[in-house]
Amino acid sequence: MAESMVGLKRSHRCTEVSEANIGQEVTVMGWVQKSRNKGGIIFVDLRDRSGILQLIFEESDCGAEYFAKAEKLRSEFVIAVVGQVEKRSGGANPNLKTGTIEVRAKSLRILAESETPPFPIEENSKTKEELRLKHRYLDLRRPDIQRNIMTRSQVAILTRQFLAEEGFLEIETPTLIKSTPEGARDYLVPSRVHPGSFYALPQSPQIYKQLLMCSGYDRYFQLARCYRDEDLRADRQPEFTQIDMELSFVDAEDVMDVNERLIQKLFKEICGVDVALPLPRLTWKEAMDRFGSDKPDMRFGMELQDVSEAVKDCEFVVFKSALENGGSVRGLCVEGQAGMPRKKIDALVDFAKGYGAKGLAYLAVHEDGSYKSSFAKFMTEEQLTRLVAAMGGKAGDLLLFAADKNSVVYNVLGALRLEIAKQLDMIPKNAWKFLWVTEFPLLEYSEEEGRYVAMHHPFTMPMDEDLDLIDTNPGAVRAKAYDIVLNGTELGGGSVRIHQADIQSKMFEVLGFTQERAQDQFGFLLDAFKYGVPPHAGLAYGLDRVVMWMVGADSIRDVIAFPKVKDASCLMSEAPTPVDPKQLEELGIEVSEAAEAKAGDKE
Ligand code: ASP
Repeated sequence: MAESMVGLKRSHRCTEVSEANIGQEVTVMGWVQKSRNKGGIIFVDLRDRSGILQLIFEESDCGAEYFAKAEKLRSEFVIAVVGQVEKRSGGANPNLKTGTIEVRAKSLRILAESETPPFPIEENSKTKEELRLKHRYLDLRRPDIQRNIMTRSQVAILTRQFLAEEGFLEIETPTLIKSTPEGARDYLVPSRVHPGSFYALPQSPQIYKQLLMCSGYDRYFQLARCYRDEDLRADRQPEFTQIDMELSFVDAEDVMDVNERLIQKLFKEICGVDVALPLPRLTWKEAMDRFGSDKPDMRFGMELQDVSEAVKDCEFVVFKSALENGGSVRGLCVEGQAGMPRKKIDALVDFAKGYGAKGLAYLAVHEDGSYKSSFAKFMTEEQLTRLVAAMGGKAGDLLLFAADKNSVVYNVLGALRLEIAKQLDMIPKNAWKFLWVTEFPLLEYSEEEGRYVAMHHPFTMPMDEDLDLIDTNPGAVRAKAYDIVLNGTELGGGSVRIHQADIQSKMFEVLGFTQERAQDQFGFLLDAFKYGVPPHAGLAYGLDRVVMWMVGADSIRDVIAFPKVKDASCLMSEAPTPVDPKQLEELGIEVSEAAEAKAGDKE
């Protein structure tokens, strides 16, 4: 039966009790991790969010009644114990912060009993994630998850402190907003008061933070919840949190400066890592050329080499046609892997095909100087020598080549570089390689839509030197955009914004927006900008991803208290669910038969 805690006050969390308290009386409360009855002595491991404390019950100290109660304790019972701190009678436990002490109980209250949990509450759980997520309230009791969630809180608090000191204001922006379907798909919320009309949940506070600059708030930040109804990807969440900010009267340098200092502070205080400033920078072009990625993992080398020039006269049709079509031939030199078995190479070829390659050409340079290659027969000895030299290859190396449009070559070799590094264990542990990637293309051509789309968003400022190219060669225009990258992951990104009406209309024009459509979707922003808008720029981090790196979690779900799974559902609450027909009626919404059938299947 559950007892009350009236008259008791917790004096310490479990691991706040230390040798300094020996001889003192403490009141501790928490969950029973385990309890062992050694005949006449009962040992209980008490757990709370701080860790574990050993309690010891002996009838001679606590009396028969409390001893009998202690005999009933089982895992996950919630208890309150008053007792005296002592040096541990048995051997010390070096694995516990409280390993040299114990609390000799004088009294015990059972504040709540517990059924046997569906899985043990323990570190590094072997339990299947589905089961853990179904009972997330229990999973959240596990010490490793608790540490993650506490680190996340610390990141949020430090961020607030730092930005406040830098003169930022924390301002909330609405989460029921107008739908502006540029970018990912919006989550829609039907309006009851305006039947047939919908709000969208924000994909980011972008427009509002720009309006705040227009309104004179100068430096804004927010830990903002964002929603994107994207197709399912393994480590994405339909809702996620950004550390979002915007600054007025600044250029890209100012934004990068304040943000690298924020990163330096967070990683020092939370991970004890010294981040040297300024962070290195690569332009997008250099990042793609050297690493095949706009978020290069710089913890290891094996950079891409452009060998287009070296192979331009060869008869190998794969290389030849790539070059004739304006593409390139590039390669990776995998050191010391000339002896890689054919089967493994074939697996790499398949891997490359998964990233859009038609194939992968290889050349192994044997120790005796001979070659084994999928294409050597199409090349002269001299051409091969030139190719190996262009790759910086030497005896014992395996050279892998992709030939195609540049975008495909980057994509394939960028992915292959990471895959090989993983397979060959080339990535050093405990390395923290931060960098800025700058000068992104402003626009990307979407084959699907048959038009240019904004690479970042439509409010990103082109680089001054490229302004003239907007009409003649939009694809070549670079943007004042920057991403902050850590160990091959994009932690955040932002840009200087367009604050000149003429450049903004030009941008909409290139994006294929009519005046009317631009006005319809972004009219309130464009109107606001007519009344004196300061130059401004900003950036947003994916908070979940930042924390994930800090705690070394494998999945973003491990740093979110109540995450959703791949199909955007919540295994615990079972959201989303069909709703009462009356609710739909009020909203003026009818569910199609097909959708109803699907929902029925799910149930
Ligand atoms: N709103 C942008 C994003 O979500 C970030 C920014 O430009 O500040 O990616």
